[in-house]
Amino acid sequence: MSSRALRPQAAPAAGAAARRGARRAAAASPPPVILVKHAQPFRLASRESHPESTIVTAGAVSIGTGALAVMAGPCSIESRQQIRETARRVKAAGADMLRGGAYKPRTSPYDFQGLGRKALEWLAEAGRESGLPVVTEVLSPEDVDLVAEFADLLQVGARNMQNYALLRRLATATKPVLLKRGPSATIQEWLLAAEYLLSGGNLQVVLCERGIRTFETATRNTLDLAGVALVKQLTHLPVIVDPSHGTGKRALVAPASRAAAAVGADGLLIEVHPCPGRALSDGEQSLDPAEFAELMGTLRPLALAARA
Ligand code: PEP
Ligand code: MN
Repeated sequence: MSSRALRPQAAPAAGAAARRGARRAAAASPPPVILVKHAQPFRLASRESHPESTIVTAGAVSIGTGALAVMAGPCSIESRQQIRETARRVKAAGADMLRGGAYKPRTSPYDFQGLGRKALEWLAEAGRESGLPVVTEVLSPEDVDLVAEFADLLQVGARNMQNYALLRRLATATKPVLLKRGPSATIQEWLLAAEYLLSGGNLQVVLCERGIRTFETATRNTLDLAGVALVKQLTHLPVIVDPSHGTGKRALVAPASRAAAAVGADGLLIEVHPCPGRALSDGEQSLDPAEFAELMGTLRPLALAARA
């Protein structure tokens, strides 16, 4: 583009009479102001622009249909046997998807960081064996192709909600995305993060509330269930809840899951470990398979009541 194109056009010379005439005309009929108004800045995510609810498909599972989609599995994939056993047990209890971390975003660099590609292979194998589609986290743009080879749903962790390079890369991925809310993100910032995925071409986005940081330290995070009800009204995208990170305490996972189902969440993401006491990450907030099965038996009536 030439620099000339950037300069404003010179106004045609006009006499005093012409200028007076123009001023009178302007006073009589002000120039039309054309406003393209979007009440919400997250224009593609908003229900205003898209009133009907979006259904996201991960493998053979549909999220956002009105049924509760339950994703369960360990925080981290620790061994082939651990993920296969978890898959078998959560499937038997009625889970719809298998979760498990291969690339872990840990607060301390000295903590277990995940087993990477090997863990992805074990996860995919466990998913095939049990018939469960799998969800796992992708930490960086360079890993998207590799993780997408194995995963049915690509998780963006809370710490990465505003990693715009990652969001832009995932916008062009062929797999759906699970976008967790950042620990300090407002609802508007969360929906604008989703907007990066939608505006970049990936319309298959699930939101996940996983607790936010508040003054309260008695729970690991403060699970914002009123926020879930609000976001369900603001957006057409499915919204699920992670009661494990949302509370940080095993004893609170079942009540928080039931509350999430009752408030209208489209699904749950729950940490389950065959032996939580020996978990390499998040054991204190993980259910064992029996506790998970017991919880599953109580959820359906609550989810139905939320839709009545
Ligand atoms: C996880 O799901 O194990 C995880 C790290 O979650 P978050 O990004 O919500 O902390
Ligand atoms: Mn975890």
